[in-house]
Amino acid sequence: MTFKAKKEKLQEIYERFERDAHEFKKDAICKIGCTYCCTDVGNVDIITLEGIIISERVNSLLQPLKREVKKKIAQNKLEKEQAKIARCPFLKEDDTCLIYDIRPFSCRKLYSIRECRGRGPTVHRQATELAKKAVREMQRLDDTGYSGHISFILYLLDRPGFRKLYLSGGFDPARIAKFGKTHRLVINRLAT
Ligand code: SF4
Repeated sequence: MTFKAKKEKLQEIYERFERDAHEFKKDAICKIGCTYCCTDVGNVDIITLEGIIISERVNSLLQPLKREVKKKIAQNKLEKEQAKIARCPFLKEDDTCLIYDIRPFSCRKLYSIRECRGRGPTVHRQATELAKKAVREMQRLDDTGYSGHISFILYLLDRPGFRKLYLSGGFDPARIAKFGKTHRLVINRLAT
């Protein structure tokens, strides 16, 4: 399957989840400017296919914004490596998302029917199951890729050797074994 077809399929998975979870998400109290999910929640996990879409957007930004965003991604990686709770590199100063239209599934699946602060989001069990099913489907779709925290995946995709291999459809987990192990990346092919 071409990358174009994979991106279209990914969009279909997002849209199906939105349809199937609508019944639950309509009770959400989430609103613009509430950034709990973007600042206080642990990992923002993505698959490499989502990473490619995000990195293409980052690379299309004009300077000095591009430089600033890349700096924030590197900072986020550093903070996560130190096991700190880190603000998402795409959260803007006005508390809106720089990449909202292409935000990863991790952000799409999250909502809460109660105030999050102090206890984390309250999500319907059925919506959690739908989200798990969607993630499995995404990992099957991206079967030459990996899953992990957003700045770790973006770091890999910034390495020319890794990016070239991934975009050519190549698959060689041994090449990233050490980084993958220390950064708790999942090999999609083994997760499904
Ligand atoms: S990508 Fe956007 S919605 Fe997702 S955590 Fe980052 S700022 Fe929040």
